[in-house]
Amino acid sequence: MCAAFSPEEDSLFEKTGVAVLKRLRKTRNPADLLAAVASAHKEFERAFASAAPEAKAVVACRAGCDACCHVPVGVQAHEVLIAAAHVQTHFSPTQLDELIARTAVHRAAFMGRSNVERTALKTPCALLAEGSCSIYSARPEACRSHHSHNAESCRTNLQNGNEALDVYIPGVRGRMFAVMLAIDQAVVEAGFDGQAYDFGSALHEALTSSLCAVRWVQRQSAFPDACREASEADDEEDSGVLHPEGYFR
Ligand code: SF4
Repeated sequence: MCAAFSPEEDSLFEKTGVAVLKRLRKTRNPADLLAAVASAHKEFERAFASAAPEAKAVVACRAGCDACCHVPVGVQAHEVLIAAAHVQTHFSPTQLDELIARTAVHRAAFMGRSNVERTALKTPCALLAEGSCSIYSARPEACRSHHSHNAESCRTNLQNGNEALDVYIPGVRGRMFAVMLAIDQAVVEAGFDGQAYDFGSALHEALTSSLCAVRWVQRQSAFPDACREASEADDEEDSGVLHPEGYFR
């Protein structure tokens, strides 16, 4: 499946993805599926717990280290709706108003910019509060799957505007990726929105328009094109869109 993995890691990738997909395939009702996906997010913790001890031992991520929260976060619609529901349940009216204001600033800053330009802005995520994630239990899949073996490299990458490809831990990354891809495949197989969105922009839309959830339930594009993840000049036309044929059988 992935040239960076050993045969053993490839096998675990496949097993993890197939197991998650099998459980999610049992659900098709929109409300149930969103709840099942939120529950499947716990699979990231289980997948991490079952990674090899030597892979887990090199994880450098610590509370208060937030370099990875200053880059664009690409998500699918279901992740935004889960995060928005969490915010609407747990934030006070004042906190909600402040978050809407921050996501509006984020959205305006990202509007019309390429991914390289967005990364160069080093914009802190609107959910970042004093170095910690304020929606930790409802954070997007990209945030759950990220583990670094070198916090200093994360900071240097951020300063230089580089993608953090040199900090991945293959023995952890493969399992995390399998969970993420299986969840996204199940959602798309069920006919729901599989487009890639910018988290901050789409969250602003979700918090200011209840129509996003209605469109998702009706299996339409939940968010306007202005909230889409930015593509690069050499991307395929449908880059970022998940296809129903998926990764796992
Ligand atoms: S959602 Fe949370 S973990 Fe993800 S980038 Fe934002 S603050 Fe960081």
